[in-house]
Amino acid sequence: MGSILWFRNGLRLHDNPSLLRAVEDKSGPLFPIFVFDGETDGSTVAGYNRMRYMLEALDDLDGQFRKHGGRLFMLRGKPEVIFKRLWEHFGIRRLCFEQDCEPTSKARDERVRGACRVLGVHVYEHVAHTLWDPANVVVANGGIPPLTYEMFLHTVGIIGDPPRPVADADLTDVKFVELPASFYEEFQVFEKAPKPDALGVYLEGEDIRMIRWVGGETAAMRQMQHRLATEYETFCRGSYLPTHGNPDLLGPPVSLSPALRFGCLSVRRFYWALQDLYHQVHQGRLSATHFITGQLIWREYFYTMAINNPQYGQMAGNPICLDIPWKQPQGDELQRWKEGRTGFPFIDAAMRQLRLEGWLHHVLRNTVASFLTRGTLWLSWEHGLQHFLKYLLDADLSVCAGNWMWVSSSAFEALLDSGECACPVRLGQRLEPSGRYVRRYVPELTGIPDEYIYEPWKAPLDVQTRAGCIIGKDYPAPVVDHVACAHQNRNAMEELRRILEKAPHCCPSSEEEIRQFMWLDQSDISSVVS
Ligand code: FAD
Ligand code: MG
Repeated sequence: MGSILWFRNGLRLHDNPSLLRAVEDKSGPLFPIFVFDGETDGSTVAGYNRMRYMLEALDDLDGQFRKHGGRLFMLRGKPEVIFKRLWEHFGIRRLCFEQDCEPTSKARDERVRGACRVLGVHVYEHVAHTLWDPANVVVANGGIPPLTYEMFLHTVGIIGDPPRPVADADLTDVKFVELPASFYEEFQVFEKAPKPDALGVYLEGEDIRMIRWVGGETAAMRQMQHRLATEYETFCRGSYLPTHGNPDLLGPPVSLSPALRFGCLSVRRFYWALQDLYHQVHQGRLSATHFITGQLIWREYFYTMAINNPQYGQMAGNPICLDIPWKQPQGDELQRWKEGRTGFPFIDAAMRQLRLEGWLHHVLRNTVASFLTRGTLWLSWEHGLQHFLKYLLDADLSVCAGNWMWVSSSAFEALLDSGECACPVRLGQRLEPSGRYVRRYVPELTGIPDEYIYEPWKAPLDVQTRAGCIIGKDYPAPVVDHVACAHQNRNAMEELRRILEKAPHCCPSSEEEIRQFMWLDQSDISSVVS
């Protein structure tokens, strides 16, 4: 018999139901495989950092299989062709993989499923990238996706608790065999995880000395332990969500989102670890509200909203997205946003951090996204999505596009109704008054005194001279007048609201939900209004 274990997301051994299924029958060989098909590996869209992170995760997996006498086979080719050859050579009859719920993966999986049907290979698909099967959520919601987060909570409340992680697979006595020579002739077989360059993905000004995020299950498990320790202290203080209350823009790389994105960490493992820890700390005296794991539920929500929506990543033809009449980019304004040369230090520091490290704190993502769209430049969120999909370590279409639609008031949210958004100057001043964050990523502003660090164009010329940074020469003048833009955009949003009044669209259920989503407190929501 024998099984193919096809890795796509889910780059881990723990809580891996497909692996369990694959080793259920040890009479034949096990082929753990990753296929570089240009789609699954992301090499056609991903930039260097995200590619590197994923390849490190493959390397980690490979190392773990090698400890058991096997390896992760990494081949370039079409999955259905490779699987057919394995069937021909070894009589493989089982293909096991984790569900990939992204709408863009549907065609690939259908193709493979079709090929397996013809060969008589049995396909086992297991849900483990999400807490609930998004398709089940849609069914439980009456066949349509729950249009608000509150409806989503209600629906999954009816379905019940997500499953707990499955047991670790026993890899002793598993048969691992080599690929026949013909495979090496027909396909490119990588002896070890390649570097991004080997896949045609090159450095574009990223500084590899600034790499702070390491891919793979081993690193992810360490990160989770660290995170749980922080969470434990927070629960003991009677609070929760330690990363939110006091955003640490300069902190160490502790976020788990890249690990969750590639499945180096199982979302169920993290979810249940948090729930159990909370119960342990409060000894059942306090019931765990969904807030403890509320951020993970946003992730679920966006995946669910995307599954049956092939237009999810764009405005045209996207039934949940409002058609906002965004401007076409003028001059080099879009390029300046992408490169961190807008002349707004808070925005530029963030955009440069994204390029350098592939990472941005949620508050910064909100700020730069709002700046590009309804806050300042009034450009379509689609430009932002494409840029994030390339550079963010944790980006995938469903979650990233979902957040972009939310922030730009295109779907899921009611800010459209209030016209409020984050001010690129005042938010920076409040969150990071020392200016250290700006100086780390925009070194030309190092000498600018703290009081002008977020609006250096206001510094008198002699101050600029002493700082060695003349605005307009050493650092750009603001790309636009952000206060004028904010007023103009707010009026445009109000106008839109009047037009759209009768057209229902997805929106948040309450003010509290907006606060939770933006990781800001009530005072911020009003104080950041330009
Ligand atoms: P925690 O608070 O520790 O949350 C735990 C996990 O919940 C995260 O690791 C993440 O998996 C999930 N999560 C948290 N917030 C959100 C959210 N708003 N939506 C969906 N899932 C969430 N997150 C991604 O994982 N991938 C993306 O492509 C992505 N694109 C974004 C684009 C924009 C414009 C914005 C505003 C946000 C985006 N986010 C995205 C959401 C969020 O910024 C990150 O998930 C978060 O910064 C991760 O930090 P954390 O692990 O410390 O979060
Ligand atoms: Mg539409």
